[in-house]
Amino acid sequence: MDIKDEGICRFCLKTFSGAGMGRHLEACLAKKEADKEAFDIIKIPSNIYQIKISAYKVYWLHIEVNSLSTLELLDGFLRNIWLECCGHLSSFKIKGVNYSGSTIGESMFPWMKMEDASMDQPLNQVLGVKDTFEYQYDFGSTTRLEGQVFAERRGVILEPVRILARNNPFSYECDKCGKEATEICLECDELFCDQCLITHGGDEEMALPVVNSPRMGVCGYCGDDDFDNFKIK
Ligand SMILES: [Zn+2]
Ligand SMILES: [Zn+2]
Ligand SMILES: [Zn+2]
Repeated sequence: MDIKDEGICRFCLKTFSGAGMGRHLEACLAKKEADKEAFDIIKIPSNIYQIKISAYKVYWLHIEVNSLSTLELLDGFLRNIWLECCGHLSSFKIKGVNYSGSTIGESMFPWMKMEDASMDQPLNQVLGVKDTFEYQYDFGSTTRLEGQVFAERRGVILEPVRILARNNPFSYECDKCGKEATEICLECDELFCDQCLITHGGDEEMALPVVNSPRMGVCGYCGDDDFDNFKIK
């Protein structure tokens, strides 16, 4: 398995580590240029949070979001890009307070009365710059994330959540032949290429795709909702 803590700044297309990316994004001239272009379209600035979200140290996202957006919006984004398999419950933990009861959870489990605070809080009511938070998706086979508001700026973003950078996908070797693995067998936890998965003979329904997500190989996670199609040509 080849795990390099690297990702690409989506503005200048240079490579940085997960730890160095936050500071780079604040200084990146290509980003400043793009920010100016976005401002020229809307011309009404608001407060934008730059947030880093990571999982198990090796998966990470640097995003921008309006500071008036809710925890629920962030929850929806994280579900889509990294987590959603069967509508499990999720929660944020910020300064000792739990926020859950997302619409998805409530509609799936209407009988559950949540003791937690609601996710309809705006980010700036619960998080300031440098504040950290924890997040869990699924209280059975839990995927745990950590986040931090890295910085704040006045400006414009054109989408609800703007992805600034993301860890590069890792390449895994097929445990049989050494070619690039595409599936993980849930019966034996081994990684296979398509060809070797067939010869391995396991039930195909018992395999999940290799994906760029901390939920790879967990529950029924297939990465189908991951809308991010950034690629370097
Ligand atoms: Zn850059
Ligand atoms: Zn599931
Ligand atoms: Zn193989």
